[in-house]
Amino acid sequence: MFHLDVSTLVFLYVMSSLLVVFVLWIFFERVAALPKFVREEADVWECSICAYTYVDSTHHEISQCPRCKSYNKKEPEDRLL
Ligand SMILES: [Zn+2]
Repeated sequence: MFHLDVSTLVFLYVMSSLLVVFVLWIFFERVAALPKFVREEADVWECSICAYTYVDSTHHEISQCPRCKSYNKKEPEDRLL
């Protein structure tokens, strides 16, 4: 059986504690990755009457302009602009 002095035991204790903290840090850094927020281009509407640009994610085909209260229909060519 080999003999360990106090300084070696303290060194091993500190290094093992740091290793545990490092492993936990890497683990939770991978788990806690924030979800990326992506705004869909279809949510952005431009009113055909007053040219007001607004966001409406609840409707996909027809949306009401919050400024002039007119209804706007989603045009496929609007997404290209
Ligand atoms: Zn409008």
